[in-house]
Amino acid sequence: MSYFNELYQEVILDHNKRPRNFGELPEADCQADGNNPLCGDRLTVYLKIDGNTVTDVRFKGAGCAISTASASIMTETLKGKTAEEIERMFRKFHAMVTGKTTPSAEATADLGKLAVFEGVSGYPVRVKCATLPWHTMLAALHHSDDTVSTE
Ligand code: ZN
Repeated sequence: MSYFNELYQEVILDHNKRPRNFGELPEADCQADGNNPLCGDRLTVYLKIDGNTVTDVRFKGAGCAISTASASIMTETLKGKTAEEIERMFRKFHAMVTGKTTPSAEATADLGKLAVFEGVSGYPVRVKCATLPWHTMLAALHHSDDTVSTE
C-alpha cells in the first residue's frame, strides 16, 4: 500500500468516526443543504461570516465515510479564510479529486490535509461524495436557496 493510501484511510476513518465542527450553528449567517442521491449523502452546512471572511463553520447530516470526512476536514480548513481564498482552494481540491492534477508537493502544498482525498480520483462516484460538502458550502456562501444536488 502506498503512503497516500495509508494516510488516506487513516485520516478519513478518524474524521468519519469523530467529525469536527459537527452540529447546528444557531447564529449562522447563511446555510445550505446538499444531497448526493447516488450515494445517499445529505448534509447542511452553516456559515458565520464577518465582512468577506468565514469566521465559523459547522455541518450536520448523514452520509458515507468519504462525505463525512470531507465535510469535517473542510470545516477545519475554512475558518479565517476569505471567499476568494476558499474558491481558489476549492478549484485546486476539485482538480485533484477529478484527477486533473496529481498531488505533487507544489499542487497540494497549501491543500494540507485535503490532499488525502487524492485517493478518490479513480472513483467517479466517490468524487461526488468528496465534493458535495464543498458545493453545499459554496451555495451557502453565495446565499443560494436551492438544495445542491450532485445529480
Ligand atoms: Zn457518499
